[in-house]
Amino acid sequence: MDFNPFTMRDLECLRDLVGKERVSTGQSYLELHSVDEANNKGPLPEVVVWPKNAEEVSLILKMANERMIPVTPWGAGTSIEGNPLPMHRGIVLDFQQMDKILAIRPESFQVDVQPGVKYQDMNKSLSRYGLFFAPDPGANATIGGMIGNNASGIRTIKYGATKENVLKLEVVLPTGEIIRTGTFAHKTSSGYDLVRLFVGSEGTLGIVTEATLRLAGTPEKFGVALVPFKSVEDATNTVCEMIGAGLGPAALELLDQATIEVINREGHLQMNENPSLFIEFTGVSEESLKEDLSQTERICQANHSISFEAGMGQEERARIWEARHQAFEFMKRNNPGLSFLILDTAVPISEYPQIVRFARDTINKYNMKGYFLGHAGDGNLHVVVPGNFDDPDFILKKDKVNEEIVSHAIALGGTATGEHGVGIGKRKFMLQEHGESLQVMKKIKQLFDPKGILNPGKIFP
Ligand SMILES: Cc1cc2nc3c(=O)[nH]c(=O)nc-3n(C[C@H](O)[C@H](O)[C@H](O)COP(=O)(O)OP(=O)(O)OC[C@H]3O[C@@H](n4cnc5c(N)ncnc54)[C@H](O)[C@@H]3O)c2cc1C
Repeated sequence: MDFNPFTMRDLECLRDLVGKERVSTGQSYLELHSVDEANNKGPLPEVVVWPKNAEEVSLILKMANERMIPVTPWGAGTSIEGNPLPMHRGIVLDFQQMDKILAIRPESFQVDVQPGVKYQDMNKSLSRYGLFFAPDPGANATIGGMIGNNASGIRTIKYGATKENVLKLEVVLPTGEIIRTGTFAHKTSSGYDLVRLFVGSEGTLGIVTEATLRLAGTPEKFGVALVPFKSVEDATNTVCEMIGAGLGPAALELLDQATIEVINREGHLQMNENPSLFIEFTGVSEESLKEDLSQTERICQANHSISFEAGMGQEERARIWEARHQAFEFMKRNNPGLSFLILDTAVPISEYPQIVRFARDTINKYNMKGYFLGHAGDGNLHVVVPGNFDDPDFILKKDKVNEEIVSHAIALGGTATGEHGVGIGKRKFMLQEHGESLQVMKKIKQLFDPKGILNPGKIFP
């Protein structure tokens, strides 16, 4: 794509459109919008703009489309694959100031929000209605960024990813046209599903300016278990058997020995230092939760679990999930000065033991350190590899590790990314994963954004 250079005239035009206090070319703002949470770096944008409403977004896109200037939306910048980096410079649209909850309809389990609202803040406001938005990425992401990446997390196994929890969207297209798509009904068979096309499109097809989200009731009762195993294989076999037995956990997470060790050390906990499953069931009756836990215990024992530490209620739940949520922080503290490859892939559940084994062998082959953790119940695996990103030898090895594990996951019928999106990091796997349907995706991109101004340099190889 040949974009036009950003001129003083363009800058003046943006200032006229939204007011000069919400347009910045300050060096620190440009730098802040050229790096993501995983330390992927892009070029500096030429300008950062903080829009306040859909009409402003529309005017900016209209102008950018006419003048061939790239536009990249920015939520909280917590992406891992370089998703919001302005690879062709131009305008970054930061949604920090569009952070309002517009309406809560508790009786319909719905909320309307602007894209810049942070989901953790939103969930605090919803808690007084006994409701919450279930997709739960670890970082305090914005709803716009979660929609961009189709984010998910530890409770996806029960509630689905962001895709399953967005009902309606207001989207601004590159021409400046504002469209509304979706329905307040919780099911529909009506026409092409544009909502789910926009979700996960990483801001390459349109810019979300409002979303109606589907909410869940906060469960009344919890049953949790922390289960160490003799080996990762035993833990992953247990995952498959639990799903096969029809148990419906609300969370089913794998943490390997290295991860448990770092949590114990940095979090001052005393968990058994073996590969472990963190399991949660939710419901309305303690009897049914106890039954779920006892059936789970039988399956764990048959797979050589070392112990079965089960508890009921909020306190146990908070203790276990606090440790899980802080795992990455603890890894950072335990590896001062190092950066991290955060590998993300997902496979059919039957292949989970196999991908974990393959990943472990690959890490060992390159003599690297790797922390394994994953949303095992969804077949989603993360391997976190610390190292010095200025060391060419480390870079070479981490790229090989990433390539070999992700390619193997795709060969097993899986995907290059379970939840972090494609960004720039996973583009090279798109052909291998999607084959000829990648051409159809390109045609869709061409249809929505013929001049290619929206978040260019992403998704496609
Ligand atoms: C410690 C840590 C743990 C994480 N754990 C998880 C996890 O468990 N699960 C998970 O899914 N992710 C996880 N992530 C990744 C990240 O937090 C999520 O992908 C999150 O959804 C990104 O949201 P954001 O607001 O930071 O968006 P950004 O990073 O700013 O943007 C994400 C994408 O959305 C686009 N975008 C932003 N706003 C809009 C808009 N209004 N309209 C259209 N497109 C838009 C951007 O252009 C970009 O392509 C983790 C990250 C960290 C640092």
